[in-house]
Amino acid sequence: MKAFSFATDKGKVQIGLELDDTLYNFSEIWETYKQVKSKGRGPRLDFLQIMVEADFFHLETFQEVLETLQKIRPISHLKLRDPITYLPPVGRPQKVLCVGRNYQAHAEELGNTVPDEPVFFSKAPSALIAHQEKINLPKEVGRVDFEGELAIVIRKQAHNVSAKNAFEYIAGYSILNDVTARDLQRADIEAGRPWFRSKSFDTFCPFGPFLVPGEAIKNYRNLELEVKVNDERKQHTSLSQMIFGIEEIVAYISKHCTLQPGDVIATGTPSGVDQLNSGDVVKCHLSEIGVLRNPVGQ
Ligand code: ZN
Repeated sequence: MKAFSFATDKGKVQIGLELDDTLYNFSEIWETYKQVKSKGRGPRLDFLQIMVEADFFHLETFQEVLETLQKIRPISHLKLRDPITYLPPVGRPQKVLCVGRNYQAHAEELGNTVPDEPVFFSKAPSALIAHQEKINLPKEVGRVDFEGELAIVIRKQAHNVSAKNAFEYIAGYSILNDVTARDLQRADIEAGRPWFRSKSFDTFCPFGPFLVPGEAIKNYRNLELEVKVNDERKQHTSLSQMIFGIEEIVAYISKHCTLQPGDVIATGTPSGVDQLNSGDVVKCHLSEIGVLRNPVGQ
C-alpha cells in the first residue's frame, strides 16, 4: 500500500493510493468513508503533508477505511487513469536534510574518509520536483551527478530522541535523488565554503512518487536500491550497507535541530555516482517503495 500526491485535470491537489498495482483517488475514498462512518463529518484529506502532520498517516488508517468500504460501497469508480500528474509526496517540508558519506564505497570513490558520526547538510526545499519532472542542468557549473537515496518523512516533532524510539517519529519511506553540481561542490569544499549551493539548484531534488507508511516496511535494511541511467545500472546496494542506520540518523540530527512533521531526510547514496547529461533519463528504484523517474534537460 503506497500513497502519493497528484494534481487533477483542474489543478486540484489530491491524495492517491496504490493498491495491487491499481491507482485510486484516496481523497474521494475518504469522503465516501466519512459519509458511511459519520454522516460526512470530519476533516478533508487533500494534502498528504497535512495527513502526516495530523498524525493520520498510518497503515491502519488506510486499512480501516478500505475494510469498512469493502463491505458496503464499491470504490472501483474512484480508480485513476493515466497519465497521472504526480507531485512530491510532501510538497512543503520545513527542512530537507541529507546524510553524506553513509556508504563506505561511496566515501572512498570521492576520496573521503568514513566519518565516525553522521555528516548531515541541507538542500533548499525549493529544489523539490516530482516523479517524471525534468531535472534542469544549469549552464556553466560543470559536472552534475545523480545520487539515489532512501528518504524518510518525519511524523511528529522530534527533539533529542533516542535511537531506540526513533521509528515512532517516522511517518513513511520514499525515494530522493540528491542531484549535485559536483565540480562546484568540490571547489566550495576546497575553498572552505559551505556546499549548500551545489545541492540546491531548482529541480535538484526529485522526490517520490510514493510515500509508504512506516508500518508497511518490516525491516528497511532488507531493501535494495538501484539507479539506472538510460537503463544502464549505475548504483546498486542493499540498505544493510548503510554505515549509520535510520534510527541513529534521526537520533543524531534531533540532538542538533528539532525535526518537524513533514521534514524530509535523505539517508545517503551508495557508490556509483556519475554525471548526468542532457537527454538522459535517470531512474531510482527502491524495492517495496517504487521507481522515481526523471528526464534530464537544459
Ligand atoms: Zn546525497
